[in-house]
Amino acid sequence: MEKMKRVKNVEICNECGRSVSWGSGLFVNRVIDLDNWKTRKANGKPFPKGDYICRECDEKIFGNKDD
Ligand SMILES: [Zn+2]
Repeated sequence: MEKMKRVKNVEICNECGRSVSWGSGLFVNRVIDLDNWKTRKANGKPFPKGDYICRECDEKIFGNKDD
């Protein structure tokens, strides 16, 4: 029997709130965010329950650090 019932990741981007689940178009290149909910909240994430960052937001965050 496989362990399928692990903690389920919330498959939305914690920056833009869009779905990054399979078939969403953002599934590819999604980045898992290893911070927990509290840390994200403290960091001012608009969608702290999301366990991922989509590619677009990832580029915004990490490609534009001088802002
Ligand atoms: Zn996003």
